[in-house]
Amino acid sequence: MRRYTFLRGDNNMLEDSPFTIESFYKFLGERKLMATKCCKCETLFLPPRPMCTKCLSTNFNWVKLEGKGELISYTVIHFSTEQFQSKTPYIIGIVKLNAGLNLPGIIRDMNPKQIRVGMNLLVDFDTSIPLQWPQWPRYFFKLDTLSS
Ligand SMILES: [Zn+2]
Repeated sequence: MRRYTFLRGDNNMLEDSPFTIESFYKFLGERKLMATKCCKCETLFLPPRPMCTKCLSTNFNWVKLEGKGELISYTVIHFSTEQFQSKTPYIIGIVKLNAGLNLPGIIRDMNPKQIRVGMNLLVDFDTSIPLQWPQWPRYFFKLDTLSS
């Protein structure tokens, strides 16, 4: 089942945005998880690519995803690079979104002992811009309390 919302004409920026990773992060700053959809074969890409890997088309539409899904895999990180060591232990997971895409990301506000595969998670947004690289808005996952 596919559950995503098409956005048409309700946002000028949307239609003008190039299908690039920069646009993807710009949308994150607006609390939108946007994928691109190939106009020819309807394959979804997240993050966007300049060319469809299935049919080589370069025609895309932006599609807003609901950002809900199921945890299919995770790792608890205890040792990290210097930049992220203060955040350990933290959890990186792969979520199979209801739209059918797998999306990796950090899972916040979760006790590593309570996490389990199959949990319902949803995407949330951190629109503050960090001082250090990478200086762009981010998404993360948290427990979807309504669907759990
Ligand atoms: Zn295609």
